[in-house]
Amino acid sequence: MVISAIRRIGHTHLIAYNIEAPMLILKPNCECCDRDLPADSSEARICTFECTFCADCVETRLGGACPNCGGTFTARPIRPEALLAKYPASTERVVGNHKACAA
Ligand SMILES: [Zn+2]
Ligand SMILES: [Zn+2]
Repeated sequence: MVISAIRRIGHTHLIAYNIEAPMLILKPNCECCDRDLPADSSEARICTFECTFCADCVETRLGGACPNCGGTFTARPIRPEALLAKYPASTERVVGNHKACAA
């Protein structure tokens, strides 16, 4: 996604430029229970590395910590529908092999 930014050069000059911002990878499923997590799901949770789980697994199985990196989770933001056509969600399912998920 292209965003505009302004950079200051020295004390007086400002230049405007566009940069291609990295996109969040919207994974289609929970890495733990493999349930579907569509792009507009309010149940999706991600860590800072975009490991993706459902709210259920985060609370009941993972104790709020990512089994891959140990980090915390936050609700995955929802990409506006109009932008999903241009910047679609990932279709590559990721399923991890975590002790907490086997139960
Ligand atoms: Zn799950
Ligand atoms: Zn993680």
